Amino acid sequence: MTALNITVDGDGIALVSIDSSERPMNVLTEALQAELGAAFEKLAADETVKGVVLTSGKPGSFIPGADLKDFVSAHDRGMSAAEAAASSRKLQGVIRHMESCGKPFAAAINGLALGGGLELTLGCHYRVLSDHPKAVVGLPEVTVGLLPGGGGTQRLPRLIGVAKALPLMLTGRPVKPAEALELGIVHELAPADEVVSRARAWVLTNPQAQQPWDVKGYKVPGGVGPQAAYANQAFMGGVAQIRKQYSENVPAPLAIMSAVYEGSIAGSIDTGLRIESKYFGQLLSGVVARNLMRTMFINKGIADKLGRRPKEFAKSAVTRLGVLGAGMMGAGIACVAAQAGIEVVLIDATQDAADRGRAYTGKALARVLSKGAITQERIDAALGRITATTDYARLEGCELVVEAVFESRDVKREVTQKAEAVMPQTAIFASNTSTLPISGLAQASARPKQFIGLHFFSPVDRMPLLEVIVGEQTSQETLAKAMDFAGQMKKTPIVVNDGPGFYTTRVFSTFIDEGACMLAEGVAPALIENAAKMAGMPVGPLAQYDEVSQELSWKIVKQARADGLEARFTRPDAAPVLEKMMALGRKGRRFGGGFYEFPENGKKFLWPGLAKHFPLRPAQPDAHELRTRLLTIQALEAARCYEEGIVTDAADADIGSILGIGYPQWTGGALSYIDTVGIEQFVADCERFAAQCGQRFAPSVWLKARAESGERFYPLPKAA
Ligand code: NAD
Repeated sequence: MTALNITVDGDGIALVSIDSSERPMNVLTEALQAELGAAFEKLAADETVKGVVLTSGKPGSFIPGADLKDFVSAHDRGMSAAEAAASSRKLQGVIRHMESCGKPFAAAINGLALGGGLELTLGCHYRVLSDHPKAVVGLPEVTVGLLPGGGGTQRLPRLIGVAKALPLMLTGRPVKPAEALELGIVHELAPADEVVSRARAWVLTNPQAQQPWDVKGYKVPGGVGPQAAYANQAFMGGVAQIRKQYSENVPAPLAIMSAVYEGSIAGSIDTGLRIESKYFGQLLSGVVARNLMRTMFINKGIADKLGRRPKEFAKSAVTRLGVLGAGMMGAGIACVAAQAGIEVVLIDATQDAADRGRAYTGKALARVLSKGAITQERIDAALGRITATTDYARLEGCELVVEAVFESRDVKREVTQKAEAVMPQTAIFASNTSTLPISGLAQASARPKQFIGLHFFSPVDRMPLLEVIVGEQTSQETLAKAMDFAGQMKKTPIVVNDGPGFYTTRVFSTFIDEGACMLAEGVAPALIENAAKMAGMPVGPLAQYDEVSQELSWKIVKQARADGLEARFTRPDAAPVLEKMMALGRKGRRFGGGFYEFPENGKKFLWPGLAKHFPLRPAQPDAHELRTRLLTIQALEAARCYEEGIVTDAADADIGSILGIGYPQWTGGALSYIDTVGIEQFVADCERFAAQCGQRFAPSVWLKARAESGERFYPLPKAA
């Protein structure tokens, strides 16, 4: 199968157009690399060929990157760092041969050129980029735990200087055409349909092309080494910044920095390329890159394409949505739906409350407008789609009604029945409850098969996850319709079964509760918060508690007790801390303060009163051990949810933990964490913590049996 169309014109200029027939995009697979290598050799050897223009046959897209499906399995296939380095040497070899063969090569970049796609063009002597705003270029490898392994860490700094190149690689941010030109990443911008002719014109007039770094006496712009003007800030400051952002969890940023520093002082690009591939090999064969690629790209991609949707039902779309309760959540749901082009009927108990909910969309979108990401026309159109009312009769014609009223069974029962009296017979009803089991709420419904949980996260317009909860009687058709709605709302859906707290709320509660338990043991509050950050959690457990509020958590505990739930759902180890905080009037941020103080005009800080009520123990525990404890308790709860059939798919558990509650991405998610440390080690950690901290850490018989047989949540690929 050939992906290359090669023609040579009367002037001896070859046009190599990449157009992988079996894919919608030109992914830089090993096969494509080999094909390019063979073609370049042939063209270099052909005396009738004077130069080459490289372009893509896919409209608007050059090459969007490497094949992550190849990369993601490297670790699990047991690829060594040396083998992984060798794989990058192959692509480097193709590009190095191209740039040093003596003939001019120009890239006609007709659109998106990311990762290996941009690296390929950096090996060309001239780059013309489409001026279309979507024609971005960049080296986003860091986002999947890798570094640019096709020469990017060596050519980009040699082209535009270390100080400009390094931040681009450390953030992986895409660069738009005008900036790409200004930075010197490309030489020229042109309309997409002219990039080839401009590139060709350059090749015709530059028969003796050579890369700047192959010219004798070449110096990297801005200099290299510790004496360079930027070095202190870029390297000393940069390392500190990386440590702060990633702790010791994510190796790619430091590897990028090392490859750039060592490679730039090496002088020769060939030495630089060898240095780059050494670091690339370490990353590709490592577990963090595997985790990031598997969960955040491959499995999240499947979820975004509604991979868990029952396939036997025709695709549906919501054109008219009812939202009951115009509070924080209802207003957010209405805002996102209206932007998706859905007519929304937003109902609250009073017209005032309904109007306030509608006004939220205006405010939220005005913020987006101030960043230039939306037009006033679109805001007006979105607002025009929202009808704020108290009148349930307006629900007529809604294909879906979502309730987001108070977290009370009685209120939810009342609104369910009022809505069902008006909704079409075929419509489905969803509850946005975060704790009350769906099957119980469905008892209020005359159509429990058409009743489902749609658990959005706050703030709805920014949080990407949607936890879809299938009740005992929820039909597969209802699930299919709910998933289609998730797609319309551009959310990433996970599908879970019913139970107290479903999946995400359960795992999240273990995190904040563990912080409370540590406090009760006399661990310094700042140490608790920093241990969570060391683990890679965005916010510490005590700070999270204040956001949720001790008041709401205490209510949930009391509800669980009243419902006669199993003891573990009454959060017995954290409850005394909660009770104490309630008695002290420290009920959370919205009540004026909790574990933290929230001064009106200043930054929040830990409440000094904690020292009196939770005296410090004389010897503080090891921070790393606390970090492991916080990761372990959440992963253990995820495993329990899996054991109990609340989550049935490891990918859903992982995506839900990362997107819903901020479990660190480097782990690949809460279940992937167990595979990452190894299930035997994980069970040993649980047992150690159970002995030290309490039975909440005790691993189940099921988990121990899995450890004994070494059963993973993601089985290893079978040896070929
Ligand atoms: P909220 O208090 O901000 O809003 C609830 C709204 O419901 C209020 O505007 C209230 O006037 C309205 N309401 C009450 N009774 C009503 C009735 N009979 N008819 C019509 N409207 C009525 O609460 P919220 O934070 O938006 O939470 C709503 C639901 O979403 C709860 O079930 C909650 O558990 C769930 N939830 C909340 C979050 C969160 O972070 N706040 C996250 C996920 C789910």
